[in-house]
Amino acid sequence: MNDAPMLRLDGIGKVFNRGLPGEVRVLDGASLDVAKGEVVALVAPSGAGKSTLLHIAGLLDTCDRGQVAIGGQAMTGMNDAARTRVRRQAVGFIYQFHHLLPEFSAAENVMLPQLANGATKSEAAARAARLLDRVGLAPRAGHRPAEMSGGEQQRTAFCRALANSPRVLLADEPTGNLDPATSDQVFDALMELVRETGLSALIATHNADLAARMDRVVHLEDGRVL
Ligand code: ADP
Ligand code: MG
Repeated sequence: MNDAPMLRLDGIGKVFNRGLPGEVRVLDGASLDVAKGEVVALVAPSGAGKSTLLHIAGLLDTCDRGQVAIGGQAMTGMNDAARTRVRRQAVGFIYQFHHLLPEFSAAENVMLPQLANGATKSEAAARAARLLDRVGLAPRAGHRPAEMSGGEQQRTAFCRALANSPRVLLADEPTGNLDPATSDQVFDALMELVRETGLSALIATHNADLAARMDRVVHLEDGRVL
């Protein structure tokens, strides 16, 4: 199993509104392997199915056909409880919009997934502090999302995604909502964290400059990975 790719997407198919007048065939046999420690850019125009593919890879959505395997383990056919456990422990997800919980501080937002996964409050607080410090946010740890800049919010979201030490990081246009200068800084912070932890990552982006800084670039076209 050590030779298995960390993430394998094999022949993924997805149709929305099947059989209805608005049927959309989004994915049509999309296959992709991401090796351990590899960072892959997923590039395609808007509407091509990037988010759909990432959601399926992250077990946030199901596919109509094909197979997702994480760390050599097939995810198809697992019951909901097992899928939830894998999603919580093995996968980190970053959205274009931070999706932090507004009522909680940055530190609490990074603690919550750890508490859901069985960590004690002091363990979760210590790890949250360490992660936030790592991306230069120690001074903002007590701030709520509304009291932070867009770049700070997104760096907090990275820490939350890494809170349970996942093996695979999935990021959906993680800097797409930031101005170009902030986007560069935030992307640097993300890449440093990814390299330091040896994570495998699949990162959707529109930005050719950012894509070129990853290990490999793949394109999504007509529902397939080229
Ligand atoms: P991208 O992230 O590349 O912009 P998406 O994966 O969000 O693309 O969407 C791909 C296509 O699937 C689009 O045409 C979109 O309208 C459609 N789509 C996405 N989610 C749904 C849904 N829940 N129901 C119906 N159509 C959807
Ligand atoms: Mg999208």
